[in-house]
Amino acid sequence: MKIGIPRALSYYTYYPMWKTFFQILGLEVVESDATTKKIMDDGVKEAVTDACSPIKLYHGHVMNLMDKVECIFVPRLVSINREATFCPKFLGLPDMIQYTINNLPPLLSPRIDLKKGKGELLKICYRVGSKFTKNPFLIYKAYRNAIQELKNYAASFLKGAIPPLKLDSSQTQKGDIALAVLGYPYMLYDPYFSLNLIKKLIDLGAKVYTLEMLPEKAKLKQADKLKKTLFWTYSNSIIRTAYHFFENKRVDGVIHITAFGCGPDFIVDKLMELEAKEIQMPFLTVILDEQTGEEGLKTRLEAFVDMLRLRRIRHENNISLHG
Ligand code: SF4
Repeated sequence: MKIGIPRALSYYTYYPMWKTFFQILGLEVVESDATTKKIMDDGVKEAVTDACSPIKLYHGHVMNLMDKVECIFVPRLVSINREATFCPKFLGLPDMIQYTINNLPPLLSPRIDLKKGKGELLKICYRVGSKFTKNPFLIYKAYRNAIQELKNYAASFLKGAIPPLKLDSSQTQKGDIALAVLGYPYMLYDPYFSLNLIKKLIDLGAKVYTLEMLPEKAKLKQADKLKKTLFWTYSNSIIRTAYHFFENKRVDGVIHITAFGCGPDFIVDKLMELEAKEIQMPFLTVILDEQTGEEGLKTRLEAFVDMLRLRRIRHENNISLHG
């Protein structure tokens, strides 16, 4: 049996885990093709008009898989801990897909809500796995291997690699300017949607740090800086990573990548901007959608990196004048 996994949204965080899980159960895993203009256009045509661009793109990826597989994995991702949930659009994703796209193969849409405790993911895996095998030992083996695969994936980011873009630490961590580039993985790591933003920055001579390169412990240390935990998982991760870099000033600037029409980011972006202003850290917001032009983006990134270099020269001159 062939199961399809759309190359969008949680794909960039959990794909290695689910791929391993289904493969050990004996399924053939088919991922949708890398994003193209056609996939984006198909999604825009089918999705509700006021959806954010990543949700529209997800529709396009589901359509890309429709004729290739017997079932498509569209999880209802609710939470991975007790403190927050995913954005409401993640919660309603299976319904949105089911009611907007005609002639779909069956969707496999487990509700993934881990706030109830540690054993919950195993229970979910048993429920999903039992649709394909009656062998509980095989499901347990698939679960264990899947978790290990997820750990390996997370560890590769911590070493400075960006696996979905096939960039390793020798590429992301060279350059004379250090930048924290913070945004949802499903935007940043999709080369078509992000207009190859990370690669552009590296080509401009920047060292790039992303959300996933900071260990969870370091993010949690920043949790108290907000009077209240935000409602959304990715938003907490972004703001805490930003606070980490604002505090230790190991980067020359911070770039926030956000999607047009993203409700949660409206708050996150403002909070980051205010804090950056307070500590005089250069900060740039880049809003991406299906119509963002490549040349305009390139010019903005070049201007930002040039400004950072100038700022550093001025700072060094000041030190030598007063030193
Ligand atoms: S967090 Fe923002 S960009 Fe992501 S799915 Fe929700 S609204 Fe869209």
